[in-house]
Amino acid sequence: MAGFGTTLTELRQTFRSGRTRGVVWRKAQLNALLRLVSENEERIFEALQQDLGKHPVEAYRDEIGVVKKSASHTLDNIEKWMAPKKGQMPWLLFPSKAEVLPEPLGVVLILASWNFPISLLLDPLIGAISAGNAVVLKPSELAPACSSFLASTIPQYLDSEAIKIVEGGIDASEQLLQQKWDKIFFTGSTRVGQIIMSAAAKHLTPVTLELGGKCPTILDSLSHSDLQVAVKRIAGGKWGPCSGQACIGVDYVLVEQKLAPVLVELLKNCIKKFYGESLQNLKNLCRIVNKHHFDRLANLLKEPGVSASIVYGGSLDEENLIIEPTILLDPPLDAEIMTDEIFGPLLPVITLNTIEESIEFINSRPKPLALYAFTKNKTLKEKILSETSSGSVTFNDTMIQFICDVLPFGGVGPSGFGRYHGKFSFDTFSHEKAVLQRSFYFELEPRYPPWNDFKLEF
Ligand code: NAD
Repeated sequence: MAGFGTTLTELRQTFRSGRTRGVVWRKAQLNALLRLVSENEERIFEALQQDLGKHPVEAYRDEIGVVKKSASHTLDNIEKWMAPKKGQMPWLLFPSKAEVLPEPLGVVLILASWNFPISLLLDPLIGAISAGNAVVLKPSELAPACSSFLASTIPQYLDSEAIKIVEGGIDASEQLLQQKWDKIFFTGSTRVGQIIMSAAAKHLTPVTLELGGKCPTILDSLSHSDLQVAVKRIAGGKWGPCSGQACIGVDYVLVEQKLAPVLVELLKNCIKKFYGESLQNLKNLCRIVNKHHFDRLANLLKEPGVSASIVYGGSLDEENLIIEPTILLDPPLDAEIMTDEIFGPLLPVITLNTIEESIEFINSRPKPLALYAFTKNKTLKEKILSETSSGSVTFNDTMIQFICDVLPFGGVGPSGFGRYHGKFSFDTFSHEKAVLQRSFYFELEPRYPPWNDFKLEF
């Protein structure tokens, strides 16, 4: 691709031509995106297998399916979202009318992470297109097969004068960040989020930061049958999405001491059923993305007191970058496994005297992106909602909030800010322009000088 400056100039020209603003262009691009994923499912499966060892079923559920769902939902609603929204005028301004008119921001940059390398790039793109923007996409260099697949197919399917893709590593990101954008949408770590925000500050560019953190799961006492469902959902939310390499994956579980042995037993059964028994025979589990992250996770297990807390798993296959689903019971709270986002298949179970202590536990740590709680206790639910802060709260399940287009998806505090999905994606990439239209009739004279006491009374 030509230099970034030239690319941006071309995108600005396209945007200024007005081409991306019309509903016809927006719908054509969304339909083209749907064709891109539908006609290339096998290639996507292959790329995800190469980059992460992702099983096609998981790949369909978390990547292809997510993109198809978002694009279809957007196509169904786009005209409604684009329509100006009328507002009620105060009588003082009679006769006049007020409208909120969504307009595209301009040329936007989308930077994605590697763990869902297709959906985390294309889902925000759906929002950017639906709002009528020109776009530069930067996939993660840590998922090279997906990056190269996207770089070769996007120009074939989408309007290449309005939507461009830039491959590369940190150098490419740094160069992109030197340019002036109308919006930067970033998915990645809190550390890099800070870099993005300072680069954006130079041009006063608005940012949406979809970051990470530790997502706690509270498990209250439940009937045996409810507990079995809960544990299955916890296991699915820990090891199910990309072997725990997921921003909204379960990071750790908080449970009362008396329930911990049952929880551990049920979790073990789930692991055996979902993924198999020994490291050599593990199936349906993604591999760790690269040696750096494999070593990072291996080192978490080596910290003093941590290895002694392993109650299941803990085996590592360095050659194939596989880590066995691992359960740890009460690892030291000051160990990195409990202070940093795990982003891998290690699950600490932390025991408490009473489940209410979970509120204080969560509040003494950075605000999470997602909080999960399995409980039927109304008072506990209310306490969680009113006394903790997190990007989202899901009761009695994990992960499913991600595919719910009526809910905004995003963090709070260090887990990020801004939101997307469904109409929220459209809003994220739009400016809501305030439009007031006034009639020439009915001049309200007291608004003009000369001032006098009578006008004060008025
Ligand atoms: P990362 O922050 O290392 O990288 C993300 C992107 O930033 C990549 O495109 C990369 O090229 C770029 N980048 C990396 N270093 C940079 C630098 N110094 N300057 C400029 N750009 C740079 O994150 P990651 O390893 O890809 O993803 C893991 C993190 O992302 C976890 O914290 C996870 O929780 C978070 N995440 C959040 C979401 C969400 O939706 N909130 C989704 C997935 C992952």
